[in-house]
Amino acid sequence: MRVEFLGGVRTVTGSATLLEKGSLKWLVDCGMFQGGKELEERNWKVQPYQAKNLSFILLTHAHIDHSGLIPKLVKEGFRGKVVCTKATHDLCEVMLQDSGHIQEMEAEWQNRKGKRAGKGEAVPLYTMKDAEKSLRYFETVNYDEIFQLADGVKVRFQDAGHILGSAIIEIWIEEEGQEKKIIFSGDLGNFDQPIIRDPSIVEKGDALWLESTYGNRLHKSREETVRELLKIVQEAIAHQAKVVIPAFAVERTQDIIYTLGQFIRKGSIPPIPIYIDSPLAISATEIFKRNSDCFDQETKNLLSGGENPLEIPGIIYTQTTEESKAINEDSRPGIIISASGMCDSGRIKHHLKHHLWREESHIVVIGYQAEGTIGRRIVDGAKTVRLFGEEIAVKAHIHTLGGFSAHADQKGLLDWVSHIHNPQLEVFVNHGEEKISLGLSQLIYAQFHFKTAVPQWREKKILFSDVEKVMIEEEVKEELPPEEPFSVLFNHLYRTYKRLRRKLKREKKGGEDFYDPKRLRQLEEIKKKLEELESEL
Ligand SMILES: [Zn+2]
Ligand SMILES: [Zn+2]
Repeated sequence: MRVEFLGGVRTVTGSATLLEKGSLKWLVDCGMFQGGKELEERNWKVQPYQAKNLSFILLTHAHIDHSGLIPKLVKEGFRGKVVCTKATHDLCEVMLQDSGHIQEMEAEWQNRKGKRAGKGEAVPLYTMKDAEKSLRYFETVNYDEIFQLADGVKVRFQDAGHILGSAIIEIWIEEEGQEKKIIFSGDLGNFDQPIIRDPSIVEKGDALWLESTYGNRLHKSREETVRELLKIVQEAIAHQAKVVIPAFAVERTQDIIYTLGQFIRKGSIPPIPIYIDSPLAISATEIFKRNSDCFDQETKNLLSGGENPLEIPGIIYTQTTEESKAINEDSRPGIIISASGMCDSGRIKHHLKHHLWREESHIVVIGYQAEGTIGRRIVDGAKTVRLFGEEIAVKAHIHTLGGFSAHADQKGLLDWVSHIHNPQLEVFVNHGEEKISLGLSQLIYAQFHFKTAVPQWREKKILFSDVEKVMIEEEVKEELPPEEPFSVLFNHLYRTYKRLRRKLKREKKGGEDFYDPKRLRQLEEIKKKLEELESEL
């Protein structure tokens, strides 16, 4: 069994793992890289995905950082099956086409800029049409059913509690008469979120791919977060101001609608205008209503009692650009929910431009803000941000509400892992910023003594074999941008060295047995190896 880590390692975006058993090749997730030029260049170098040779793409959920490269792979010759839940398929239908649209707009913008600079024609990564074509290859499966994917490969999708249709994927592999099980956590949700069901517990497995988005953080409880949101909205109403919420079109938007609906139902706030200014969020909300079989019991009860938690008084869905622009003319206090969730594209940028500089406005950040995004800069306390070529002062109240996150926090992740009973379990920590993944990896090792690793991008591995080895093949090296592997490695070495130094210093200070002879020998060996390398170079 061979695997290659193609994305979502030491970063949150671009999730993809290539699995190979004999001549059978398939992917788990096929996500787009987002957050900065350097990462996004990987979206163009899809040769390692081996599109033509792939039989399947198993898709954990519809978010673009997991599904966004599927149209690109179809364009490159993928003719296998994309296997996912029905709700994931329904969401991909709108999300991939929306992504294609964004790619087209992006290329158009590049061209306008490029022409003035005398540059060649920019082409989109893929178009809306490409996205539409890719949907033909989708095939849906039910939750909780084990099915035969191929000879010696069985698969099951279980609730991940992250977004509608999201799944944990379990894969049973039979090799040399032995059966082993791989678990992909996908993006793992929280146990107390509304609308969709909680994550399933998995108890058995031999290898685990574990997400680590919030592997270093503890969320406030949902209750507390809901109270905070209520306070913000009440304050905005008292000051005739607006609350702007950048939200991912799927899940966070519906979650906020649900919560605001509760405020209004309980009479905590009057029915104020609530703008859902994102065509994608509007489609997604419709898809939610169509997939009510994925709802949790609480939401099902509300529905059967004749109440639709996603339809609330005062809600205004704005489809067209004109309608979107008209929001700015509404002087009443209200709430604007718009995408994208990381403030990098879409209509939210217009609303931020309109409200960031106003002291009375409130910006409520509820989702994860990746490094390099506008949302991250705002959260990190930037005094100004650049929007549409203009420097905008940040004067509004900025709130970060972690309790609405669609991702489990550190405790949630550790609790979930604690159910797996196999001392031999091997854990690959992925889907997190490098530092966070490394931290969680150490924590899991310390708590459960599982073998843990934080893979590198393009790292290859043989699983479940006696002679386990990491293979960095020559051909792979050649394809990589020349500088990157070295600089990444150097940075990594440097950080490890610093961590080790700090740790040893601390130990020495603490009066612990610092001069362990075994440790000294190990360090001497490393020193020797480095010196050898130095003389070779
Ligand atoms: Zn996700
Ligand atoms: Zn994700």
